[in-house]
Amino acid sequence: SAKRNSTAEWQAQDRKHLHPFTDHAELGRIGAKVITKAEGTYLFDSDGNKILDAFAGLWCVNIGYGRKSIADVAHAQLLELPYYNTFFKTTHPPVAELSKLLVEMTPKQFNHVFYGLSGSDANDTIVRMVRTYWNLKKQPKKKTIISRWNGYHGSTMVAASLGGMNYMHELADLPLPGHAHIKQPYWYGDGGSQTPEEFGLAAAKLLEDKILELGAENVAAFIGEPIQGAGGVIIPPSTYWPEVQKICKKYDLLLIADEVICGFGRTGYMFASEPFQIEADFMTLAKGLTSGYMPLSAIMVADRVAEVLNSFGDFNHGFTYSGHPVSCAVAIENIRIIREEKMVETAHDETGPYLAKRLEEFKDHPLVGEVRSMGLVGAIELVKDKKTHKTFEPVGKVGTICRDHCVKNNLIMRATRDTMLLSPPLMWTKGHIDEFMKLAKIALDATAKDVG
Ligand code: PLP
Repeated sequence: SAKRNSTAEWQAQDRKHLHPFTDHAELGRIGAKVITKAEGTYLFDSDGNKILDAFAGLWCVNIGYGRKSIADVAHAQLLELPYYNTFFKTTHPPVAELSKLLVEMTPKQFNHVFYGLSGSDANDTIVRMVRTYWNLKKQPKKKTIISRWNGYHGSTMVAASLGGMNYMHELADLPLPGHAHIKQPYWYGDGGSQTPEEFGLAAAKLLEDKILELGAENVAAFIGEPIQGAGGVIIPPSTYWPEVQKICKKYDLLLIADEVICGFGRTGYMFASEPFQIEADFMTLAKGLTSGYMPLSAIMVADRVAEVLNSFGDFNHGFTYSGHPVSCAVAIENIRIIREEKMVETAHDETGPYLAKRLEEFKDHPLVGEVRSMGLVGAIELVKDKKTHKTFEPVGKVGTICRDHCVKNNLIMRATRDTMLLSPPLMWTKGHIDEFMKLAKIALDATAKDVG
């Protein structure tokens, strides 16, 4: 169908019916890029441009585009059993098999899975599970969930409340009651003269301060991304999560690890809970679970929570498409590919360290304050003053300029404020990293010229 229209015609339709609600004011001027095809790590647009996708779609296409075996599995499943649910004392092979696989892959406390369609609905569901848990434990006052400013957990009313993006809260009267936020462990911006280790402990202490302010008897849980993604790829110091874990234990909080971005190899580990030593009560999975080929999310529920929820009987919750057979079949094949092609090991041993080393080259660039990465997720932070870490004003303008230069040069990177974010498919080789470095340098140089 992509061949039916010219680029201008697709853009006009987009402008009229899809993009008028968005903030993409410049789309009226330049028009949306019309992506018609993708292969490996390259996107192709309706004008025939070949674009390097350094963002894996939206942090999700871990295995890269154009995998025929995924299409074959989906096709076969659509013919055999395109849909059925798990509501009427029924199940089906893909959902049963995927559940077994996820339980085997995730930390040992997880033996139960609940399915959704997106990271947003999964986090929304977790909040309902948390409330149910404390009500069943006869501690109904334990309601408030603490999360971090600049965290992102999705777009539903509850997930956006968990999130700490002011621009999502404004005009929607968010956060909803029962949500509180603390600062994220952003050492480069807020660390001052502290070592990362000292700063990590201080950032975790903010959780304790907030619990004491609210009263532990009123606090139900803490949620965080092991590495904050949309907030700017904020990699916490090694001391942060172990201290958070201790505080959650001390005040009897459930701990939720949102692994929507970090999961399935992104950091060079299958799940980031491993290197950060997080022993969570819930783990949110989406994105890399299917590499974005089909919508699916999974909530891993720890035994101690599952026992309480199961003690009651029906947890009356679920979606028409929970555990959709085609999505589950695709997830199984996706995980097979990740394992067979040793993508996690490669990100850990080869491409991750190589990317980290090459990114260091940008530290000499006049705009670059810090580079950071872990596995194949990284950031290039642009600042006005490299010495004081002072940001540009208004914040976000330079990031947008740089992102536009990337797009002009057929490279996709996302900008959060003035930080350029990188999250490529895990099938990237050192050659792809070299190609990325060349294109990113062109964009950085062009941005420096514009900024003066
Ligand atoms: N959690 C995290 C950490 C995310 O990055 C996202 C999406 O970017 C979500 C949750 C929401 O997932 P979805 O967009 O599938 O609703």
